[in-house]
Amino acid sequence: MSVRADYYETLGVRQDANADEIKKAYRRLARELHPDVNPDPVTQERFKEITQAYEVLSDPEKRHMYDLGADPFAPGGGAAGFGAGFSPFSDIVDAFFGGGASRGPRPRARRGRNATIRVDLDLAECVFGTTRDLTVDTAVACPTCSGEGSAPGTHPVTCEVCHGRGEISQVTRSFIGQVMTSRPCPGCGGFGTIIRRPCPECDGDGRVRTRRTVKVRIPAGVEDGTHIQLAGEGEVGPGGGPPGDLFLEIVQRPHPIFERQGDDLHCTLTIPMSAAALGAALQIQTLDGPATIDIRPGTQSGQSIPLYGQGSSHLHGPGRGDLVIHVTVETPVKLDAEQEELIRQLARLRGEESPPGRFSPGEQGFFSRLRDAFNGR
Ligand SMILES: [Zn+2]
Ligand SMILES: [Zn+2]
Repeated sequence: MSVRADYYETLGVRQDANADEIKKAYRRLARELHPDVNPDPVTQERFKEITQAYEVLSDPEKRHMYDLGADPFAPGGGAAGFGAGFSPFSDIVDAFFGGGASRGPRPRARRGRNATIRVDLDLAECVFGTTRDLTVDTAVACPTCSGEGSAPGTHPVTCEVCHGRGEISQVTRSFIGQVMTSRPCPGCGGFGTIIRRPCPECDGDGRVRTRRTVKVRIPAGVEDGTHIQLAGEGEVGPGGGPPGDLFLEIVQRPHPIFERQGDDLHCTLTIPMSAAALGAALQIQTLDGPATIDIRPGTQSGQSIPLYGQGSSHLHGPGRGDLVIHVTVETPVKLDAEQEELIRQLARLRGEESPPGRFSPGEQGFFSRLRDAFNGR
């Protein structure tokens, strides 16, 4: 094996240096030794050495081969695995110093912006879905120039400042010395072409603003804050570019009775004490129409009555949530003499004349539920 360079020593890193340390070491040396900073032949030779070293050590596979004793740059072609196709190291220099590949002119045609419109819906429309004709103020491709931006019969011409490249290069001084920088051509705005006679209708933009109506189907189960994406229904792009997307933001108007939590609907029903004790049948107007709720004798305040499948449709997948009716029992107030006497009689019959009340450790109490929640019961 030929005498090979010690790449670790060249970069001044340890044998077990990680990728980041190797990169940092190379970057530091490259700033010192870059030919733009130090054009003398000795420095240039040294720059070549560190770049070779970096090329090998920054590539895990090449580094592994090198550690096994191969040297890709050694006379004679090095070991198997390197062979043909070993890239010139200028790619690495370009990667660090931003030189090399030109970006070229930027296209006039760009994707249009997304648009968002707010859609106000009633609860029933969210639950069951609906269809809306939405008026959208948007940009569409200019019919006169078909989006190209130049007056009918003319076309964009090549920019004379940048000769169609879209950028101009400049040599400037920086911390690493003389460097070449590129910036968008001021003559054509980076497009590489100039529209000499802009389309009179769109003034060269390639689009005109218009108001159009979009018919949209809003799926069952949407809720306040849901976003619906309509691909390609946004603004058309400048220069005939593809359109952006249209987003519908759902805003649900509050319902006078039902409150939505997930796909369940909740409401509170207040009933008199006598109905709670004796039982009753009550009419309720659900989103599906009238329904009868059966209040069983002995219903307690705080009990809930579920109407299964009467909540909101699930947005994803079949089925619906529930409608949950939370019962509150109202204690009678403003009793007249007769009512008061009847209740006293009832109390006597039930042995509740001087009730001790019933204090419990809270099996059903708020604090015990809270405690159970904390204990994971
Ligand atoms: Zn036009
Ligand atoms: Zn130009």
